Amino acid sequence: MPFYEPTTKDMEFVLHDLLKVSELDIPGFNEMDRDFTGAVLEEAGKIARDVLAPLNPVGDHEGCKLENGSVRVPTGFEDAVNVLRDGGWTGFDCDPEYGGQGMPYTLSVAVGEMHSSANMALMMYPGLTHGAYAAIHAHGSDEQKAKYLPNLVSFKWGGTMNLTEPQCGTDLGLIRTKAEPQDDGTYKISGQKIWISAGEHGMAENIIHLVLAKIPGGPEGVKGISLFIVPKFHVNEDGSLGDRNEVSCGGLESKMGIHGNATCVMNYDGATGYLIGEKHKGLRAMFTMMNEARLGVGMQGLAQASVAYQNALAFAKDRIQGRAVTGVKEPEKAADSIIHFPDVRRMLMDQKSFVEGGRAFMLWAATMIDRSRRNDDADAEGLVSLLIPVVKGFLTDKGLDATISAQQVYGGSGFTTEWGAEQFVRDCRIALIYEGTNGIQALDLVGRKLATDNGKHVMAFFDLVKDFIKENGEDERMAEFITPLKAASKDLQAGGMYFMQNMGNPDDALSGAHDFMHLFGHVCLGLMWARMAKASFEALDAGAADTEFYESKLVTGRYYMTRKLPETAFLLKKVQTGGENVMGLSVANF
Ligand SMILES: Cc1cc2nc3c(=O)[nH]c(=O)nc-3n(C[C@H](O)[C@H](O)[C@H](O)COP(=O)(O)OP(=O)(O)OC[C@H]3O[C@@H](n4cnc5c(N)ncnc54)[C@H](O)[C@@H]3O)c2cc1C
Repeated sequence: MPFYEPTTKDMEFVLHDLLKVSELDIPGFNEMDRDFTGAVLEEAGKIARDVLAPLNPVGDHEGCKLENGSVRVPTGFEDAVNVLRDGGWTGFDCDPEYGGQGMPYTLSVAVGEMHSSANMALMMYPGLTHGAYAAIHAHGSDEQKAKYLPNLVSFKWGGTMNLTEPQCGTDLGLIRTKAEPQDDGTYKISGQKIWISAGEHGMAENIIHLVLAKIPGGPEGVKGISLFIVPKFHVNEDGSLGDRNEVSCGGLESKMGIHGNATCVMNYDGATGYLIGEKHKGLRAMFTMMNEARLGVGMQGLAQASVAYQNALAFAKDRIQGRAVTGVKEPEKAADSIIHFPDVRRMLMDQKSFVEGGRAFMLWAATMIDRSRRNDDADAEGLVSLLIPVVKGFLTDKGLDATISAQQVYGGSGFTTEWGAEQFVRDCRIALIYEGTNGIQALDLVGRKLATDNGKHVMAFFDLVKDFIKENGEDERMAEFITPLKAASKDLQAGGMYFMQNMGNPDDALSGAHDFMHLFGHVCLGLMWARMAKASFEALDAGAADTEFYESKLVTGRYYMTRKLPETAFLLKKVQTGGENVMGLSVANF
């Protein structure tokens, strides 16, 4: 039976030793001392371990069932959602004006990682609701906010995001769902949306669908898309629920993973919808929350890697097979446990160094979102917008690799369903696809973000790396971290330069975009590992009691610097080959 053990200690290290959150000049952050975050993470961890994780295989095996137009979720899901609701976790970082707890986004990401590791499919119900909350909060009228937000914050009502249609996923300009204006100012919404996560279920009294649709006569393509609120049940003036709206679930998708989450076909048959924000500006409204939504999916990739690693590690300590080549390690047993074998160590170190480095990267990015939100800091907003495709693309690509590597540690047991390792692989897989495929993340990074504000934000990133190298260049102990970081950062700059010089032929630039995104990801994790090494030396110098923890950090960091970060040289070579060999074949010759 797979398990989840809260990663509180590592999160505390990242929040306090590395990021020093309580010292950051961001409103609300000075309250985030170790006692406070420790208490929050301990409570969140208990729910993850004791409530959510035991339901993860249940959700996988039972899946969701469509019965008489309503979706029955797996056994225990509703009770678990009630625990989240009653504990105020669904409104953790939401606006207190609407019943939220107003906690920093950074801390909500740490909590989210734990809960998502424990049960990704279940957490998507409140997750999508949070997306609907954020859209209405950012773009709704005061009346809409008062009407919908308190119940979304408390998860009395659920929420969904409806973009995709059979003929359009990446290219939303192809949307066909229609919104006909009515005399009373409402709209009649007609069309079909597919693959809508949490589209129908009975865990909430109402579901507030956010729907992208086109008002006839508007501009062609993405410029003619508007955003609407379409409640499952009409909401009366006094807030009570009225009749059912003309929206229904037409079917459930049979799919590879996240079986516990209902992936729905949603049919809109003249449903009453309410415009949010301005006409024809719906896509812009939907995408104001893009940084958080994409960071949330990067977090899912990391979360699956984290729980897969924990379980693989336990298996590797327990499974005995053969003897270590350097001599018997466990003479009392018939064979040594497989954790003594270098190839198994390689797999575990790959996972561990990715999970810990990725966690630091994700939480660092989250502090920038808090900074941009709470301080209205345009530079933080610019830098995090540059990094978001890397957070999403790299953490999910590498997160999937880590789940597969964890599965490999099990040998044949990893292929059977009994041990649960294969569920982590299957559940993780979707994170590379939704919220903009990873190919699109790479395109966004190279085609848009690098050049935003004349390259100001990428230069700011290079300055950050340069400053860190300069500040620590004299410290001999840091040399084994600084030297590889310097080399990798040079590769990244050379990759950026290649794009600047070759934008004339977009195929040259875009053929290397995915490799560049990975190059960027490695440099980010390299920077995080160098900073974590510094924080560990500082803690050891200050006489920290838990020396093993900090020394383990240094060992893991050295692994990343020597065995993962040098991949940047190969990635740069690929970027610099351009598009010729990628695009050389005619379609007919494939
Ligand atoms: C389980 C699940 C849950 C989902 N939940 C939701 C949800 O809640 N709400 C919602 O609205 N949608 C949801 N989706 C849809 C999801 O967001 C889309 O599948 C995704 O955006 C990709 O669209 P597509 O599948 O149509 O692929 P396509 O857009 O057809 O892309 C196919 C391939 O072509 C590539 N490609 C496309 N265009 C380009 C380009 N210009 N340049 C380079 N490569 C390109 C893509 O990267 C991809 O590899 C969900 C999907 C699944 C499977």
